[in-house]
Amino acid sequence: MKSKCKVVIIGAGPSGISTALNLVKLGVNDIIVIEKYKFPRYKCCAGYITSKTKKTYEKFGLDINKCHYSLIKDFNIFYRFNLKQKIVNKFLYTNKKIDRTELDYAFYKLAISKGVKIYENCKITYHNIDEKWISLSKNEKVNYDYLVFADGCNSFGNRYQNNLKTNIAMQMIFKSDKKEEIQIHFGVSKKGYGWVSSCNGITNIGLTDVFNKNINYNDLFSSFLTTLGFKYDSKKLTGAFTPIGIRTPIINENIFFVGDAVGACDPLTLSGLRYGLDSGKYCAKAIYENKNKIYLKYINSLKIKFFFMKVLLKIFYLKISLFCIFEIGCRFFGKIIESVFNNFFVNKK
Ligand SMILES: Cc1cc2nc3c(=O)[nH]c(=O)nc-3n(C[C@H](O)[C@H](O)[C@H](O)COP(=O)(O)OP(=O)(O)OC[C@H]3O[C@@H](n4cnc5c(N)ncnc54)[C@H](O)[C@@H]3O)c2cc1C
Repeated sequence: MKSKCKVVIIGAGPSGISTALNLVKLGVNDIIVIEKYKFPRYKCCAGYITSKTKKTYEKFGLDINKCHYSLIKDFNIFYRFNLKQKIVNKFLYTNKKIDRTELDYAFYKLAISKGVKIYENCKITYHNIDEKWISLSKNEKVNYDYLVFADGCNSFGNRYQNNLKTNIAMQMIFKSDKKEEIQIHFGVSKKGYGWVSSCNGITNIGLTDVFNKNINYNDLFSSFLTTLGFKYDSKKLTGAFTPIGIRTPIINENIFFVGDAVGACDPLTLSGLRYGLDSGKYCAKAIYENKNKIYLKYINSLKIKFFFMKVLLKIFYLKISLFCIFEIGCRFFGKIIESVFNNFFVNKK
């Protein structure tokens, strides 16, 4: 079977659905979204959102409260398993199951209700870049005017990109009776952090690091867990990569990359939802107005922001910096650190 469509979007994650919904808002309805799984689907992600990201979702008409998001106030920072800083969390929201299934499913249903066609259980298998068509695992060929890769860090479109560094992030979710709290642990991986997030009888434990193929991350994760007194269960462990650095946002004038596929994920904190939503918005605008520079301008602003975060990442994880921050800074400038955390690292996103 062969069909023709103005915009084909690969991936129904936040960036793909944002692109679709923004196109619909602008009056472009000839869109299909290709998604390799069937919704509701699990995505390896803690699903934390800031109040700004919450507002961005709400602007689409999504009621975040219905996705069971709330604020866990106790936010404690540890260095080498010693509590260094207590923070009253003001802006970082968490789903009661501490994952993203519910949020992504609600966003998917919103897209369906606006008439977006989503082909589920369907993958892109071939791309003819010159003749502008793709083939799908459902034996279908689709011609397009615009193609948008919104299929994450390991995008099908990576074949057109240079290899970049990535972060590895892994998490395990299980039932527990731990008190409601978010813990962030530094000093557990070389250039990353660990988290333990608990609420409503669920705990999500995760770990991130700049990916280094010489490190055995299963061992690292298991030792993180056992030091905290939890049991490691490889069957419950999931992992994924997130990008470090911005990729080429547009190739061939009509092929766009959004969300993790373009590198729109903060390399230091791993926040990617807000940037995924925003990149979808600017990509849709560029397609609608046929002005690629709208999207290029947005991506250039991210490039500057993330360059700064990359430099911070390098400095922050030096042994001397960690020592100064946690042994001196937290002791004498706790209030400043709390304010920097709430206002710079969380609320700015
Ligand atoms: C462990 C972990 C924890 C994280 N925690 C947070 C957090 O708390 N807050 C936050 O803001 N960010 C977090 N992130 C980052 C966040 O998950 C990403 O930045 C975000 O998911 C990017 O959205 P996206 O739509 O670009 O890609 P994705 O969410 O990866 O969506 C891509 C979609 O494309 C589909 N797909 C992939 N390949 C194909 C194909 N070939 N054909 C068709 N469909 C395909 C996938 O099934 C998926 O549905 C975390 C990441 C990890 C790994």
